[in-house]
Amino acid sequence: HIRLDDVCTSFDRGRTPVLDAITLDIAEGEHVVLLGPSGSGKTTLLRCLLGAVRPDRGTLRIGGLDPADPAQLRTIRRRAGVVRQGNDLVLGLTARTNALLGTAHSWGVREWAAVLRGGTPKRFAERMRRLAENQGITPQLRHRVENLSGGQRQRVALVRAVLPAPSLLLADEPTSGLDPVTSRAAVDTLREAEGVTVVVSTHDLAVARQFPRIVALREGRVCFDGAELTDRAAERIYRGAAAGAEVP
Ligand code: ATP
Repeated sequence: HIRLDDVCTSFDRGRTPVLDAITLDIAEGEHVVLLGPSGSGKTTLLRCLLGAVRPDRGTLRIGGLDPADPAQLRTIRRRAGVVRQGNDLVLGLTARTNALLGTAHSWGVREWAAVLRGGTPKRFAERMRRLAENQGITPQLRHRVENLSGGQRQRVALVRAVLPAPSLLLADEPTSGLDPVTSRAAVDTLREAEGVTVVVSTHDLAVARQFPRIVALREGRVCFDGAELTDRAAERIYRGAAAGAEVP
């Protein structure tokens, strides 16, 4: 259960609000997509949930835990699978080892040995096989991540987030750089996470419409929250967003 109450953030001591009085309730097991133009605050909202950005005002709780408290934040992070923008894979390691990293805290000595030999601990093998196949990256698993395309890396990051079967999944633009088919597969993997609270950001309307609840942000405010986003409502979210941008 995620609850934001009047959350405000800025990066310049309140002069330009990046999140402007966000009040939002996300039930346990709910799948929510954050939609909005570039710069609307989607990443900042996800970073608040992970304690990387601290709100200037308001309260924020995840399963009753406060990300501003270091001990509680550790619990939140242990429970969460995260896909970050411009993902953060470990160069020099294979895609397989990277995909396993989210489970490393639970490895025993034998499992460490399996990973060091380039394999997968037994209890994750079947899930790894299925996830990699669904994402179409089975042949890439044995390659170092620096030799993968951007879209392939993106999918490795998704597998890494999902593999430990977390109770919370936070994904920032998980479909960026993916073609329509691989994008669909990535969304399917997130949507299949039954009973898991899933919060995904995107600026892609087609991706957003594959989720049962759309929360749209514009200039740091929630401007839509519902299931059916009509074309007209979508146009209102995006219209004028570019016009407000500075022209160099
Ligand atoms: P995109 O789809 O382009 O990733 P977004 O909706 O995720 O956009 P955010 O990354 O949350 O948007 O950014 C919202 C606003 O906050 C932007 O104007 C951005 O420049 C500003 N911002 C974000 N992080 C910082 C930071 N660390 N310091 C200063 N400004 C920031």
